[in-house]
Amino acid sequence: MTNKESLQRHLLQLDNRGYKAYKDIQGSYEFSEFTLIIDYVQGDPFASPSKFRVIVPPNIAQIPRELFNSRSREIALRDYLTRQFDKAAHSISSKRGTGKSGMIAVTRFGQEVLERTSAFITPPTPPYQGGAKISISPPYQGGAKISISPPYQGGAKISISPPYQGGELGGVELRFAVGLPAGGRSILGRQAAEMLCEDIPQIVSKSLKYANLNPAECRRHVETVEDADWLREQLAEKRLVAFVADGSILPRRSGVDNSPLLNNAVAFQSPPSLKVEFNCPNRGLISGMGIPAGITLIVGGGYHGKSTLLRAIELGVYNRIPGDGREFVVTNPAAVKIRAEDGRSVAGVDISPFINHLPQGRDTAQFYTENASGSTSQAANIIEALEVGRRKKEGTTRILTRIHGLIYEEDLVPVLLVDEDTAATNFMIRDRRMQELIAKDKEPITPFIDKVKQLYADGGVSTILVMGGSGDYFDVADTVIALDNFQAYNVTGKAKDIAKKYSISRAAEGGENFGKITQRVPIPASLDPSRGRRDVRVKVRDVDELAFGTEEIDLGAVEQIVDSGQLRAIAAAMVYAKQQYMDGKRTLSEIIDLVMADIDARGMDILSPFPEGDFAMFRRFELAAAINRLRSLSVVAK
Ligand code: ADP
Ligand code: MG
Repeated sequence: MTNKESLQRHLLQLDNRGYKAYKDIQGSYEFSEFTLIIDYVQGDPFASPSKFRVIVPPNIAQIPRELFNSRSREIALRDYLTRQFDKAAHSISSKRGTGKSGMIAVTRFGQEVLERTSAFITPPTPPYQGGAKISISPPYQGGAKISISPPYQGGAKISISPPYQGGELGGVELRFAVGLPAGGRSILGRQAAEMLCEDIPQIVSKSLKYANLNPAECRRHVETVEDADWLREQLAEKRLVAFVADGSILPRRSGVDNSPLLNNAVAFQSPPSLKVEFNCPNRGLISGMGIPAGITLIVGGGYHGKSTLLRAIELGVYNRIPGDGREFVVTNPAAVKIRAEDGRSVAGVDISPFINHLPQGRDTAQFYTENASGSTSQAANIIEALEVGRRKKEGTTRILTRIHGLIYEEDLVPVLLVDEDTAATNFMIRDRRMQELIAKDKEPITPFIDKVKQLYADGGVSTILVMGGSGDYFDVADTVIALDNFQAYNVTGKAKDIAKKYSISRAAEGGENFGKITQRVPIPASLDPSRGRRDVRVKVRDVDELAFGTEEIDLGAVEQIVDSGQLRAIAAAMVYAKQQYMDGKRTLSEIIDLVMADIDARGMDILSPFPEGDFAMFRRFELAAAINRLRSLSVVAK
């Protein structure tokens, strides 16, 4: 029997031995209130820390079912418990020797509430008491398969009578990292025994037993997330692409601190003509600005809050913790930030809707570059979003996301978010005078202004654009929002009048239609996660660097990757995609569909050979973004 006492004795015996001897403690141990599982033991005190799990059974954790009885609530609760464990670990653990000795830590997180593999609710599962049985006779000999022909069309349900009652309380599995204590390179056995057999039980008791949590705070966390998910689901029906609740605090404390600005923050107030109201399941009535589908311009003087509003909208694809200030800013889940990104590589993207006949006859229907310009990178970023975002009409698998539950078909059509601060000017506008001086056939770029309407008309792709520098867009905008001293106004009518009064008579260059989105098939050999003798070597740093095999992928310009856990999961998903689905025939978007569907059905744990506590859920757009920035990537057009 391996229990707490035997672990304790073992650790004391290991005192003073070489660090490698710690390897012996791998295994699982019964404590009085939980099971401790040591999945992986680090090789030395400076290496990446050891991986631990605790499993707290339902009768000890006693989490009320109502806190996890919907997908939104469950994800929120898991996030909450992760944060509580982190807090307790911080206050109870202490440095106990060399290197990482003494460290007890969960995954790192920010303001976003994401599905994480750091915590799980283990559902109460008392065996079915009803007495019903499914049996097969003669006894099953293996090998058979159940098939239905003609194919099942849905609609039926399996029911058990009398109904299954389940239990009412949930248990918890929590995954964390531990720095096993050492002095120099020898084991500090007494310290290790204190840490594992005293500190960890204290942390668990403080953070994973409902009786010791703050019930009001926990409920607020769960209800806030559920309301935000609910609001996001309402957008499509009201033909909105984003909602910014009245009272939201959008500005952040600083460029490096994502908590809300404390003093002098102007709370958001909707312009009356854009005000919409919702009756949320928990919070009740909420009002705010609805941004309609179509083309929306955000204008206003410099430093009046335009980029801050757009940033909140960008992050509105995720949920946030109560108190963030933006917890009720919600955006269509397929909204993608588009920016110029000169220097990125581009692999065979058909950017011809925007860019044609480059100098030296370079092909833009299959555009390859190691070093894109501002305009070509921005064009590629848009086309790549359309490529994976747009659902093909027939024969595709149902596309799911685990961030917000089910996505509806139309929601997968991207919404483009563009800020003039990070856009290429020559990609955005080409004014009357320039058209006169440089003839159309000498300018490879068809500016965004001449394609933005076609994008919406052909494919329902809405755009929200921050543009303080050019009034040319008044002609194409459906809605114009002005920011003045951080206050929003609806100035659509005024802008339209001005557009009439000062007609710019510029020639439209975009043609009738947007143009074709070409699907690409990745060549499997061009994605190689191996390095040296290792078949798989991937590593991430923060939210913007990913080492994939021998390649470095720069994701610094992919602004909707907000959590290093997302990047870790994306790296693993790239390996999974390569191993499972890249066959030289499937398109990138089909491959991503399959990966996302697998994760949805079986959880993020399929991405890792051992229980990984550091994954956070990502969107299909960011997985595609990482693959698209792999410099070795090569493709064939479908
Ligand atoms: P713009 O894009 O219009 O030039 P920004 O969005 O970059 O302006 O905002 C300029 C500054 O004002 C930033 O420091 C930002 O944090 C701050 N700010 C933005 N919105 C608000 C607000 N509602 N209340 C107070 N300060 C704000
Ligand atoms: Mg700005």
